[in-house]
Amino acid sequence: MIRKFTFAALLCLCSLSVFSQDWNKKKCAVVLTYDDALNVHLDKAIPALDSLQLKGTFFLTAASPTFNERFSEWEAAAKRHELANHTLFHPCNGQLPGRSFVTADYDLATYSVRRITDELRMTNKVLEAVDGKKERTFAYPCGDMKIGDTFYLEGMKGDFVAARGVQGEMVPRNTSDLYTIGSIMINGQSGDEMIKLVKEALRTNSMVVFLFHGVGGEHDLNVSLEAHRQLLRYLKKHEKEIWNPTFIEAAKYLKETSTAAVKKK
Ligand SMILES: [Zn+2]
Repeated sequence: MIRKFTFAALLCLCSLSVFSQDWNKKKCAVVLTYDDALNVHLDKAIPALDSLQLKGTFFLTAASPTFNERFSEWEAAAKRHELANHTLFHPCNGQLPGRSFVTADYDLATYSVRRITDELRMTNKVLEAVDGKKERTFAYPCGDMKIGDTFYLEGMKGDFVAARGVQGEMVPRNTSDLYTIGSIMINGQSGDEMIKLVKEALRTNSMVVFLFHGVGGEHDLNVSLEAHRQLLRYLKKHEKEIWNPTFIEAAKYLKETSTAAVKKK
């Protein structure tokens, strides 16, 4: 009898998890990501996040001078935020339209899969030297996922928990592909416009991953300090409904609560 009850209770719990729409017991998830290791991330974004006890994920390009010259500050930031892999040299496909900024030395179109693999693994080692962590997430520079016809992360899924793309989309709760998670690129949006995206995530029980570069300057893709602050204040004010994990925390949660994982249990 007891055994029967236990089995029924377990079945019930599993069913609840499979169909659950919650994000760590909240209505939606908002992940704040910052690319390219900029000075403004250390000087402006991190102090703004810390003042409200919010978390960010910083996709770092390991060869960037800002990363190398301010090592100890990134090390300190890693205690509260996620340091993540954005390659060693930030290679993008120079053959695509609008890519005149890509230099011949770091043109992804001329890379081999072996070369990008070596660079990504090297960057993981560098980041481990800074924060001591072995688990890492990745963001594709310029959103380029392929070398020729090859999805270059295919052979490296064991090296990364998840990867962020740049498709401008909300992430549904039942997402199973953790290596092409979409994000919303921020460039010039107002605070109200960004808050509208969070409200959309609340309404649809989704996750929204914000992709920032400049925060109050230092990059062509930029958000004003005031708009950034307004978004953070909204997240703090509605923290009972909004989960604010790092990218790796969100990815692990999706993995652990996926239908496949629950079935295995
Ligand atoms: Zn980048």
